[in-house]
Amino acid sequence: MERVFAEGDRVGVLLTEPLGRSLSGTLDYRAPEGGCGTGDFVEVPLGPRRMVGVVWGPGDGSFDMARLRPVTRVLDARPMRAELRAFLTRAADYTLTPLPAMLRLATRAPGLGESAGMRRVYRLSGPAPNKLTDARLRVLEALRGFGGAAVTLGEICDAAGCTSSVVKGLVKAGVIAEEDAPRDLPYPDLNPAAAKVQLMGEQIAAAAALTAAVAQGNYGTTLLKGVTGSGKTEVYLEAVAECLRHGRQALVLLPEIALTAEFLTRVEARFGARPAEWHSGVTQTERRRLWRMLGEGSAQMVVGARSALFLPFQHLGLIVVDEEHDTSYKQEEGVLYNARDMAVLRAAICGAQVVLASATPSLESWVNAEQGKYTRLDLGARFGTAELPEMRAIDMRDERLPANRWISEPLAEAVKARQALGEQSLLFLNRRGYAPVTICRACGHQVGCDDCDARMVEHRFLKRLVCHQCGASKPVPDTCPSCGVAGRMAPVGPGVERLAEEVAERFPEARVAILSSDLFGSARALKEQIESIAAGGAEIIIGTQIVAKGHNFPLLTLVGVIDADLGLQGSDLRAAERTFQLMRQVAGRAGRAGNRRGLALLQSHQPDHPVIRAILGGDEEAFWKAEADERRAAGVPPYGRMAGIILSGPDVAQVFDFGAELARLDGPLRRIGAQLYGPAPAPIARVRGRHRVRLLIKADKLAPIQAAVSEWLSQVKPPNAVRIAVDIDPQSFL
Ligand SMILES: [Zn+2]
Ligand SMILES: [Zn+2]
Repeated sequence: MERVFAEGDRVGVLLTEPLGRSLSGTLDYRAPEGGCGTGDFVEVPLGPRRMVGVVWGPGDGSFDMARLRPVTRVLDARPMRAELRAFLTRAADYTLTPLPAMLRLATRAPGLGESAGMRRVYRLSGPAPNKLTDARLRVLEALRGFGGAAVTLGEICDAAGCTSSVVKGLVKAGVIAEEDAPRDLPYPDLNPAAAKVQLMGEQIAAAAALTAAVAQGNYGTTLLKGVTGSGKTEVYLEAVAECLRHGRQALVLLPEIALTAEFLTRVEARFGARPAEWHSGVTQTERRRLWRMLGEGSAQMVVGARSALFLPFQHLGLIVVDEEHDTSYKQEEGVLYNARDMAVLRAAICGAQVVLASATPSLESWVNAEQGKYTRLDLGARFGTAELPEMRAIDMRDERLPANRWISEPLAEAVKARQALGEQSLLFLNRRGYAPVTICRACGHQVGCDDCDARMVEHRFLKRLVCHQCGASKPVPDTCPSCGVAGRMAPVGPGVERLAEEVAERFPEARVAILSSDLFGSARALKEQIESIAAGGAEIIIGTQIVAKGHNFPLLTLVGVIDADLGLQGSDLRAAERTFQLMRQVAGRAGRAGNRRGLALLQSHQPDHPVIRAILGGDEEAFWKAEADERRAAGVPPYGRMAGIILSGPDVAQVFDFGAELARLDGPLRRIGAQLYGPAPAPIARVRGRHRVRLLIKADKLAPIQAAVSEWLSQVKPPNAVRIAVDIDPQSFL
């Protein structure tokens, strides 16, 4: 039973902005006329402003009762449930994030508290005339981009970059319909019995196990492991069906927006209607609608990005984290959290099941399954196209390629053979742009970013050098910025754009497509390119890691990895794990043709490296065991705890001095037996003009690392210009 406060009672309201004077993040107010309850969304005065917040409980008494201001009003929104408040509190404690920043993640809904009513919406209604101005074309393009959904005037103007008069003109011309629609329509019902599902072999047993777990209605996590094409999606959709049958809500997290469209189509085929969507490509109107409908319990299933974890589900029964190993689940800016781990936390609090699905699970999840914390279900490679391709290394030490060539003879021959058969080849290189380095042949100077400690990457398509750290760009210089000599600047090394040049030279008649996230202006443009490739629109595909993320190309039978050694460099503790996963995912794109297996060729200068040998050998369990043993011996995750601290500021000496001061005050860390490393320059020592210094904490698995770090950092106030970012369980060490 939620606590209710009578008018005039002292209540603590959590706001979405951190407030220096309040440790808990809440401020005291008086309950308004009519009272309010814990979890209510309220509007409160703060200085001259009005802000939205949530009643978190009784006030903490930090303010004189006589000076307390009353809550302005209680908003017309479903109160935040105790379960979500507990989740935010525990997630804040775990990630050492101020609670207000956590609340901000859970209140990203526009128009929160507006009352329901009518709104004016626009949609395509008639055929487009032949002659159109540029602005009118952009409007029609934008409307098509919304996929037939009705949108507001503001949304069209934003998407098309035009004024409202352009849209109104098209309404007059009868091309666009203008109508009043009720706000926030409910979502169509999903029917768990809409399709007849044909599962086979291990799929049947796996679906039965997941369904039984969901039916029990309590917490549990299952690692669902199966290679591409093994039918993981069909299996976990059966768990979703069971969840719907019990009247509970389901959430499916995907690592990449570009995968959403294909997935929504599958869900529609299974349940007879589309589920709700939540990601950065969803309009404000749709966000608002989903937010409200979830609160009323009328959205049964949400497909979304990691931030969907913070939505106001009323009775969440299942969370699926698809491609659970994907690094994009870790948010690396703002609130640093791992959506996979937070999914498990939220499910544990609200009594829901979690399915972690992957062909190449993270070592963390593999170990949790080994230790019995997670149930493990395996889908073998026995059905249809699910078999892994044949994998071979090409020893690049024997190849003696001429300068500025990256495709070896054996790989080129294999591509030609596929071309002759009308099949597709994929050349994989995990480097965007044209060339990673631009060097002066006269003095050896390498062009770097003005604001970061990073070399600038040439993007010939954009005709500019781009910093991949901060996004700054500048034209390719003709004269050397260091020695002033003209005409000696030269690109060094390959990116996908440069590889495309070599492909055009060596296979002049081939149709070639490049898949690299930066070459597409929108998720839809990328989706169209992917669909065109899947339909046979290219013979040779050149791609970055975006191709590893589950797109299905039925004609693809050969994968050539240009530089299999690329991920092995660097000191990241997950370098081996990541390379293994990425190579397996990319190689898995090569499918069977008739009775011939797909083929993956890995170009490597170190084919005897243990990781390369493990990839080729295909004994996955042996690889995980060896990797787990090494981590256990080193006491690093998942067998130990880590926290990364990044200090940054404009003055390098000041940042280092503060780091050294923290290192001297390491008592709270020593008391839990943790070790502190640093301060040391971070691998990327400067980003956006700020110098970065890193401290790393290593502790035993069961040590209370959050409490110790919190106590340690509270001993000394950083200088004003120095920022502290705390990363519990860091994934990236840059
Ligand atoms: Zn020079
Ligand atoms: Zn930069």
